[in-house]
Amino acid sequence: MRLVFLGAPGSGKGTQAVWLQGRFGIPQISTGDILRKAVTEGTELGKKADSIMKSGALVSDELIIALMRERLGQPDCARGFILDGFPRTIAQGESLDAMLGPARAIQSAIFFEVSEAEIIRRLTSRRTCAQCGRIYNILSDPPPASGACGSCGGAIIQRKDDSEETVLSRLKVYEEKTAPLKEFYYKQKKLYILRAEQPVERVRAELEALLAGLQAV
Ligand code: AMP
Repeated sequence: MRLVFLGAPGSGKGTQAVWLQGRFGIPQISTGDILRKAVTEGTELGKKADSIMKSGALVSDELIIALMRERLGQPDCARGFILDGFPRTIAQGESLDAMLGPARAIQSAIFFEVSEAEIIRRLTSRRTCAQCGRIYNILSDPPPASGACGSCGGAIIQRKDDSEETVLSRLKVYEEKTAPLKEFYYKQKKLYILRAEQPVERVRAELEALLAGLQAV
């Protein structure tokens, strides 16, 4: 199964991709997670990406494409993968098609549809474990009162790019650069729309039904 998850930041792609990874045993690959790890570790990539990420802009296509070429060549991707946060521009989508070739082409792109008001509400109330990446929400899924992650004991933080000001610029970048990928996959007859504003369990159930339908084809 080779899937792309499309949607604005905060549309719930990451949550469902992590769950699917456990369900199907194929890796969930988040370019945002890879970049955040590089920033924490202070690598060359991390140094280049840090200030760009804090501002809500996109890291250059060149860097991201090189990173993904390397990642998709690793053995754990042989049986498939779920791409979360990549591609984010048409140039990335075209490079992805070229690097996979017809034999390993993307099978489906699933678009997580959520209104802008809901995205803003979700992102500004999102909290993240700095250690394991587990996502909480102060409105619907609050972290433990101790401030330590319930999974790993790490510190719960608000990502710098989840502040209201940066969220608005991330949404603008999303509309300009990433939203056109919907049409890109629609033209390839690979686009599926998921009603992602529903509670997380309902989205999961719809996603499961959608994937079961795809596998039956
Ligand atoms: P995310 O965790 O997917 O919301 O990504 C956080 C930030 O990492 C984005 O706002 C970008 O600055 C950067 N980033 C992640 N994925 C990409 C990508 N495919 N292309 C360019 N920048 C990216």
